Amino acid sequence: MAVPEDTTWEALCRRCGRCCFEKRIEEDGTVVETDQACRYLDVASRRCKVYHKRFEVEEECIRLDPQTVRDAFWLPRDCGYVAWLDAQTGYQPAQKPVSKKRQKTAKRRGTARKRSGR
Ligand code: SF4
Repeated sequence: MAVPEDTTWEALCRRCGRCCFEKRIEEDGTVVETDQACRYLDVASRRCKVYHKRFEVEEECIRLDPQTVRDAFWLPRDCGYVAWLDAQTGYQPAQKPVSKKRQKTAKRRGTARKRSGR
């Protein structure tokens, strides 16, 4: 799988900001997006206010790369990274139900705050 250079990789992000809202994982594995945004998200512009130091100031912020995108089943289906991975490998995010282990992982992460493309 050809991984884009950093600048190209970040260009895959569609700047929707949906990854920066907390998710709730239902018992059946359904991912529910809440309206609780990361404190560092500018909700109007959908841009991270601390983008260049996001991993330093927010421990739950996840660096996206092809492997983390594959694991991040809570990313929206129309996320630019998910679309890229799908085009490259035919990957489709896990749909419900997800395993208990994956549910626990998502809950431990608490938010879907991972950033790479913003
Ligand atoms: S990483 Fe995906 S979900 Fe997050 S802002 Fe970019 S396109 Fe949207």
